[in-house]
Parts: sequence; structure tokens; C-alpha cells
Amino acid sequence: MPEVYNWQIGRKMSYPYKEQHGDKQFVFVFNLNRCLGCQTCTMACKSTWTFSKGQEVMWWNNVETKPYGGYPRNWDLKILSLMEKINPGGQIWEKKVGSKDGADDWTFDGKTIFEAAERQEAQGPQRILGYLPSTEEWKTPNLYEDVPVRGGGRVPDKSSVAEGESLPSHKSWFFYLPRICNHCTYPACLAACPRKAIYKRKEDGIVLVDQKRCRGYRKCVEACPYKKPMYRPSARVTEKCIACYPRIEGKDPETEGQPMETRCMASCIGQIRLQGLVKLGKDGKWIEDRYNPLYYLIHVAKVALPLYPQFGLEPNGYYIPPRWVPTPYLKQMFGPGVDHALDKTLNPDRELLAVLTLFRKTNRIIYRYKIVKGDKVYETEVRGKKFTQYNDTVIGYDQDDKVIVQSEINEPLHVRPDIHLNSI
Ligand code: SF4
Ligand code: SF4
Ligand code: SF4
Repeated sequence: MPEVYNWQIGRKMSYPYKEQHGDKQFVFVFNLNRCLGCQTCTMACKSTWTFSKGQEVMWWNNVETKPYGGYPRNWDLKILSLMEKINPGGQIWEKKVGSKDGADDWTFDGKTIFEAAERQEAQGPQRILGYLPSTEEWKTPNLYEDVPVRGGGRVPDKSSVAEGESLPSHKSWFFYLPRICNHCTYPACLAACPRKAIYKRKEDGIVLVDQKRCRGYRKCVEACPYKKPMYRPSARVTEKCIACYPRIEGKDPETEGQPMETRCMASCIGQIRLQGLVKLGKDGKWIEDRYNPLYYLIHVAKVALPLYPQFGLEPNGYYIPPRWVPTPYLKQMFGPGVDHALDKTLNPDRELLAVLTLFRKTNRIIYRYKIVKGDKVYETEVRGKKFTQYNDTVIGYDQDDKVIVQSEINEPLHVRPDIHLNSI
């Protein structure tokens, strides 16, 4: 197999096709500390793209409660177990010599799903390690909703309620994990398709299925470890998240030709989502763009981490991990950059606070931000470290460098006039 470079695992890896990259990449960051599990994103996608007959089990955007929930059921446990079986005890990360603690300071020494398939070749012809979920596993999109670890699915016992919970990690915990297709740099769905019906667009890295070429073999469903291609029996083809590409192309009248965030991003009640486009070099590496909010969160502050980087797809969805969840669980899910990300988000600096304020302040894509310094508001101590808050203003610009958003760190206080006190 040809070799390609995957920055998330810190090394080259095998991939069925040669390295080839476009100019820009669709990227998103979800802040898991803010997700309410309200499913507004899910319904926004469903009511736009997959509401018609035959699409009942299609949830291009889903929100599952971790650790027990998953759509399809147990998707991550199942692929992790298959990987472990091929390479027992070998799925480990090594720290690069002299490096710090960010996501890009480590090398994955184990086998990705592409490499694991090479190793198991003797056992059968599988180009990519994967499995096809059963009909049963596709039936329950939100099973185990709100079920915490302690109590094993039942109401936690009285003693834990009396004790309460406190950071650094809670004994009784769950969190919401919203998921869409990651429009991966090295998509397993594309690599597995015998009809070459799946392609990745040069202009924005969005991965699409050509419905005319698809014959419904479901090789993509089997290969994608995130299980984001979904088979539609009534049409006998596979469908998947299209990254709302007409909006990215600026075709929605709301933004007058400017690129716009997708439906699931724009509808997010918890303001957990930020999405945009990053510039790529010919080698696929991100061109330095210090004041692009996505570049800053992923490559400078290093607080947003890929979902299961060890799968080897270089997914373009990134997550700010939840602060109350035990770190061993988070490290398995988001890689070894978790300690650094938690440390930084527990005591955010001035710039990070400003950039986090940009989430969901506009439907247009922000290409650059600038911070105008404001007055000191207060000072306190967070877990033994001094924390000072300033009322800075963060300004976001579109691709033509026009101001599209301006927001202060301090949320404005609105006092309802007496006359409206008891009315809605
Ligand atoms: S998440 Fe799955 S469906 Fe989406 S691009 Fe990656 S491999 Fe393909
Ligand atoms: S990006 Fe668009 S198509 Fe994809 S999950 Fe979100 S709303 Fe659905
Ligand atoms: S709309 Fe936002 S807050 Fe609500 S479930 Fe989706 S991602 Fe979470």
C-alpha cells in the first residue's frame, strides 16, 4: 500500500491511495463542555436532508450519551476490540523526544484500521478493518440517553448523591457526544468503495457519494469506523452527511454569496459548534493561519482534539473534551493530548476565552479574528492558579476581510422593564 503522512498520529501510515490534497478543508470544533443533548442539530439535519421515505434510520447528525450510548449501537467498542485483537497490547502512544503535551507531540505506535487489515490479510481479504452493523444495532439512535456511569443504568445510590461531585473528575458521569461525518483526510469509505463512487472535493475536502455510481454494496458502511455512511434500502444506495455543501458554497440567500455554516452548526442551542475552512499546503499540512479560530484552537492552543485519532483517518472533526470525565476514558477517545487540553480549558487565558466567545455568534464562516483589549473585570483563583478576566472584544472577519461579528467577553445584562415583569 502507498504511504501517506497523518499528523494526528505523528507518522506516515499505509493508505490504499497515494497522497493527494486539495486547497482547503472543511473543519469543525465541538465544545463538549457546553452540549445540552437537546438534539436540535439532529432535527435540523433530518428536517433538511433525510426526512423522506426510506430514511427512517438515517441520522447523519446524531448525539449519543457516552459511555453507553452509540449509533449504531457500540460502534466504537466494536472497532476498538477488532483493532486490539489484531495487535494485542500494541495500541499505544509514544511521546516524541523533547516534546510538550499537545496532540501533535505524540506518535501512535499501534496499527490503524488500514495497517491492521494488512496484518490480518492471511485470515481473509479485507482491505480495511471494519464490520457491518446489524439491523438491530441501527434501530436505536438514542439508547442509554442520560445514563451515568455510577448506578450502571439505574438511579445512582444515595451515598453518591450525598457526597456530591467535584473536579478534577466526577465518579458519576456521562457526556453528550454529537457526531457527523468527519470529512476525513484519509476517508476509509472512499478507499473501500469498489465502484469509486465516493470522492473528496478539491475545493473544500467535503466527502460525497455519487448516487449514480453507487450500487449499494455497503463496503463504505463496513469500512468507516465512525459508521457515518448509511444504507437506504428503499433506494438501494448509501447516503451520508453532505456537509450542507450548498451553504459552504455561499448558495443560501441569507449570506449573499458568502460561505455559511451548515444546518446542524447554525441551529446549535448550546453554542458548542464552530465550523469553517482551513488552508492546506500541497503536502496536506495546514498552512499557518495564526488568527483563523480553527487553526488557533487545534494547532496553537491545542484544546480541540480529533475523535479516535488511532483509527488513522485524520478526521476533520475536533472536540474540546469535557472537564468532569476521568482522563483514561478521554485519552482512549481523543488521544494523548487530553491532559494539555484539560489543563488549558480549566484555566483559560485571555485569547482562548475570546475565541470561545465566537462560537455561534454568526451563521457566516469566520476566517480571521482580532482581539481588542478591554478592562480588567475580576480576579479569582481556579484550582490553585490565578485567573483574571478582562472584558476584551473579539472581532470576526469573513473571507473578504469584512467584519461579520463583534462580541464582548462579558455577557450583557438585560434588565426587563417593570411593565413586562410578569408577562412573556
Ligand atoms: S467519517 Fe466515515 S463516512 Fe465520513 S469521510 Fe470519514 S470514513 Fe468517510
Ligand atoms: S453538515 Fe449538514 S448534512 Fe452534515 S450532519 Fe450537519 S446538517 Fe446534516
Ligand atoms: S444542538 Fe448543540 S447543544 Fe443541542 S445537542 Fe446538538 S450539539 Fe448539543
